[in-house]
Amino acid sequence: MDCKNTIIDFCNSIGIDTLGFIRCRVFEELRPYLLERKLDKLENEFEEKDVEKRVNPFLYMKEGKTIISIAFPYSYDDIISSEEGFSKYTWGSDYHKVVSKYLEQICNFINSIGGRAIYFVDNNALPERYIAKLSGIGFIGKNNMLITQKYGSYVFLGEIITDLYFEEDKALENGCGDCNICAKQCPTKAVSSSHSNICLSYITQKKHIEDFWFSKLNGRLFGCDSCQRLCPYNESVIKSNINLFKPNDYMINPNLLELVYIDNKNFNAKYKLTSCGWRGKAILQRNALIYLMSKKVENIDFRKINSPYVMDYYNRLLNYFKL
Ligand code: SF4
Repeated sequence: MDCKNTIIDFCNSIGIDTLGFIRCRVFEELRPYLLERKLDKLENEFEEKDVEKRVNPFLYMKEGKTIISIAFPYSYDDIISSEEGFSKYTWGSDYHKVVSKYLEQICNFINSIGGRAIYFVDNNALPERYIAKLSGIGFIGKNNMLITQKYGSYVFLGEIITDLYFEEDKALENGCGDCNICAKQCPTKAVSSSHSNICLSYITQKKHIEDFWFSKLNGRLFGCDSCQRLCPYNESVIKSNINLFKPNDYMINPNLLELVYIDNKNFNAKYKLTSCGWRGKAILQRNALIYLMSKKVENIDFRKINSPYVMDYYNRLLNYFKL
């Protein structure tokens, strides 16, 4: 059965217009690279260590025939993120929840036409950008982001594996050409070195960071948009039609002292609901503290810091910045 247009029409009816289809298969071509990365001990703390889980979609659905890759735009208005603060993708509601709701609807639709389907949004180890590229919804830029024609790189990705067979789409050509803006903008040269473990977005999310990162974060609270902000493909993107991605004011203009002292109740009512909430309160408190102490802000009351983990960073920062 090839009812691809039925799926596309259904997605369009719920406001989703960027999706592509590929054959469900083992991505053998990625195995050597992933094994080499493992041998060189380059895997970071968020990476799945079992290479099989990263290349084999049949581990998730034995009868899988097709993988559908879907992009969800999140740039909701014209505000351009700065170097400081939260990355643009975290400003609205938690994408894990928002995207799951859409994918669930699509899976239910596939069920209604007689297929089985399961969905993923960051909760499996398959190579989502690579799958998106193969399915033709964008190309992978030099900054390693998936870049779509309509929404630039400001998209979240979700995947569906189904036991229905659909005709495969074609991958797009890489569109970077001679452009090198992202490599020049990258503060740690992670883009040009292809060394993802020095990407500042990763550093802001790591549980333990070495002291020398304190002066390099430069006000970043979670994530880093340096390789995206000036990408020509992000210049005049179509805005997201997903209202839940409307930015929260407290994410665009964070109150840093409030964040350093924040208790569970306030964290759960605000930051926990955003796309960086999964990482927990202490990481955001720590990053806000690094921001303030790197700028030599003096009115920090250490007695209000409610976490031994954050207090440890406070002492290290005192020493590092000679405060
Ligand atoms: Fe490609 Fe230029 Fe965008 Fe980098 S900034 S991803 S090189 S188009």
